[in-house]
Amino acid sequence: MKRVFSGIQPTGDLHIGNYLGAIRNWVKIGEQIGKDAIFCIVDYHAITIPHDRELLGRLTFDAALANMAAGLDPNKIVLFAQSHVPEHLELGWVFSTQTPLGELERMTQFKDKSEQHSVLAGLLMYPVLQAADILLYKADTVPVGEDQIQHIELTREIARRFNAKFSPENPVFPEPKASIDKSAARVPGLDNSGKMSKSKNNTLELLEPQAALWDKIRVAPTDPARVRRNDPGTPEKCVIFSYHKLFSNLDTIQEVDVGCRTAGIGCIDCKKLLMVGLMETLEPIQARAAHFQAHPHEVTDALVAGAEHCQKIARETMLEVRDAIGLLRPNSIRPVIQ
Ligand code: SF4
Repeated sequence: MKRVFSGIQPTGDLHIGNYLGAIRNWVKIGEQIGKDAIFCIVDYHAITIPHDRELLGRLTFDAALANMAAGLDPNKIVLFAQSHVPEHLELGWVFSTQTPLGELERMTQFKDKSEQHSVLAGLLMYPVLQAADILLYKADTVPVGEDQIQHIELTREIARRFNAKFSPENPVFPEPKASIDKSAARVPGLDNSGKMSKSKNNTLELLEPQAALWDKIRVAPTDPARVRRNDPGTPEKCVIFSYHKLFSNLDTIQEVDVGCRTAGIGCIDCKKLLMVGLMETLEPIQARAAHFQAHPHEVTDALVAGAEHCQKIARETMLEVRDAIGLLRPNSIRPVIQ
């Protein structure tokens, strides 16, 4: 792992699934490779489906703030907004001229999204821009969820095709690999109906106040066998127990395990114990978020510094790309005209 690139959706309402499934892993990566861990808030991707122009900038800021609160430290890693480095679009255009339409139409995510939204050209080009995001920095590793593996495969194909056609002797791009963190927790939704997801409205938000979290957890379904307080239950059938395993200490997990099976503990008391472990994780994150909300310049300064850092790398890559495809260098105009 030499350089890692990951895209972050421009939204500040991160949930515990985002945290345990991705952000915690990114923090670990940053500790290993420092400024070669590049995290980009992909605001240009966000406009490939209808968006609210009044909100987009705010959401980009909120995404930076929430991820910084969750542990991404811009003093250690690089965090920036995609639209602040226009070379992403430039390389995206170059790649779009080399990518067969059929390959893009076959993308599963394109097919899914085009059923929900009117099809704009940008939606079709989404994976080409994603390839540009990654290859602009010559990243060799991209931490992704399983739903993104097809896009990383396309990125590899785009890199391979470019190298073979334009730079066979001295390949411009590496072929990055997808990295799926096996230790990342797959967090079930509060309704126990599969993965936690905003679209299913079954989330516990990282920055949600304690009272709001309790309101959700208090009414969350448990093992249906526990109709009365003295009915024994099976903790493995209950989402609350899944959360205990993610947030509580071993003694509490043991206490709940035995207490549930023997009806020694009621569901409300079990849920109160969960709140203790959950808030131990969330309180420091929420305290950092409150700090950044009071000092917003720390967030905007981080984004400016991140964009400056990335643009230096991006400009160098684009010089190589322009040379490889044969574009006239601006500083060559005079000799050619003469
Ligand atoms: S005691 Fe806890 S683990 Fe058992 S069913 Fe109730 S909430 Fe779920």
